[in-house]
This record gives sequence, C-alpha cells and structure tokens, in this order.
Amino acid sequence: MHRRLVILGPPGGGKGTLASRLAEHLGVPHISTGDMLRLEVAHASALGSRAQAFMNAGELVPDEIVVEITTRRLAEPDAADGWILDGFPRELSQAQALEDQLGPEAVVVLQVPDDEVFIRIAGRRTCPSGHVYNVRRSPPKTPGVCDIDGLPLQQREDASEEVVEERLATYKRETTPVLDYYDGKGLLHRVDGTGDPDQVYERVLSELESS
Ligand code: ADP
Repeated sequence: MHRRLVILGPPGGGKGTLASRLAEHLGVPHISTGDMLRLEVAHASALGSRAQAFMNAGELVPDEIVVEITTRRLAEPDAADGWILDGFPRELSQAQALEDQLGPEAVVVLQVPDDEVFIRIAGRRTCPSGHVYNVRRSPPKTPGVCDIDGLPLQQREDASEEVVEERLATYKRETTPVLDYYDGKGLLHRVDGTGDPDQVYERVLSELESS
C-alpha cells in the first residue's frame, strides 16, 4: 500500500481518527496540522498566538505559518519512509508547496453531509493530548475524563455553531480546488465518511488496497 497519504474532509469528518489508525497500520507518523497548531496555541508560542485568532474564527491560518511547521515536521527522520498528512494541504497554494518535496501517492477525502458534521462536533470532547471522544457515540468510561491518560476532556474553542458554519464554508471554498487538483492527477479517492470509525477505516483500506 502507499506510504504517503493525505487525508482531507470537512470539519468533524473523521480525518484525525482515520489518520491515526492508518499511521499505526503503516508504521508512519500521523501529522495533523490542526494538532500541531493547537499545541503551539497551548504553549503560547509566538506562532501560536498568531494562529489562534484565525482558528477561533474558523478561518485558515496563513500559509507561511502552516507551510513552515509542516515542512519542518516532514523533514524529521521518522517521516523519511512515509507519512499520513491530516488536514494539509487545505488550499491550492499549500498543495503547490508540497510539490517542492515528495508529494502524496494518494489523497483520501471523507464525505460527510453538513447536518452530520454539526451533530458530531457538538458532541465531540478531546483531551489535551488529542484523544477524541463523542459524548453520545463514543463516550469515555468516566464522564469528562480521558480513558487513556486520565486528563480532563474539553470542548474545542472552535466548536460553537457559528464557528462550525464558518469552518464548513472555508472548507468548501478553499479545499474544493485542492480536491479538483488531485483528481486531475488521478490521486483522489472519495470515500463515504458516515457510519462508525471501524466501517470508515475498512472502506478506506479496501479502496486504497484495490488502487
Ligand atoms: P477541522 O478540519 O475539524 O476544522 P483541524 O483540527 O484540522 O479541524 O483544524 C482546525 C483549525 O486549524 C482550522 O479551522 C484552521 O484554522 C487551522 N488549520 C488546520 N490545518 C490547516 C491548514 N492546512 N491550513 C490553514 N489552517 C489550518
């Protein structure tokens, strides 16, 4: 199977869950631009402080920040033999920046209807290390506490209905051209992202294994 994969999809589309499973399966790093940016925000770095306002408004963080952290991460030794990129590239200029290095061998886009996006994000809780739960569909064993590391669960700052509307609009406006770009190169795999995470994972594996 391919070892350089890009995972895209709407907010709440299940990119992170899928990407971490694929990364484990393939033994390559899971590189999430959203997680890297949230870490910068949590550490109150100069970069994080610049990114925060865009993230809380549901807008894309400027390219010079995102391309910089992603390129730096891709240059680390553990990414030499492959990677799963989650949430990057999200606009055409980022896809072009990725062409300057080894680009993806396949791009998976998870397709999830808008109303499902709102339901998923409203119930989503995450721990500070990034483990994800849903209060209705995949709750933690103890309410409000991460099963894996015991840390308190929180709702992301960009989870309000208004901000989710903006994240969806941004996705449609900025990321659709990226999908068309990879489609034109014959790399795009559109996969139904509804159903539980196991079903989605199996769908993606069979799609990629038959390609
Ligand atoms: P989602 O796709 O569910 O909105 P992410 O965790 O992937 O969540 O991203 C959260 C936020 O981080 C985005 O709304 C955006 O502000 C920022 N972000 C993540 N990836 C990128 C990217 N490739 N380019 C610009 N901004 C990004």
